[in-house]
Amino acid sequence: MRPRVFFSAFEPLHEVPEACDICTLDPPIFSYEFHSRDENGKAREKKGFCCSMCAVTLVLKAEREASNLWAEEEAALKSDDFDVSDFQQHRLVAYAKQGR
Ligand SMILES: [Zn+2]
Repeated sequence: MRPRVFFSAFEPLHEVPEACDICTLDPPIFSYEFHSRDENGKAREKKGFCCSMCAVTLVLKAEREASNLWAEEEAALKSDDFDVSDFQQHRLVAYAKQGR
């Protein structure tokens, strides 16, 4: 399971969420779906409505999970004695460009 996050506008005439499901403070702007893994690697999915700031938080969370996934893939290749230098270079450049 690769981390994924989707956002869309919601139908204000049919869906009337009062507050963001994540922070429970601000009015929601988007409906969202967040797909990730739990600590045991089992797929996890969460759907709801969120405000703009929480949407940013979800994107950053997906980025962190993607980084972890890359690191796991790199470790698995390395343990099988594959040359991971190109893979590692790509990962380091991608995340360095994001200031991480
Ligand atoms: Zn929020």
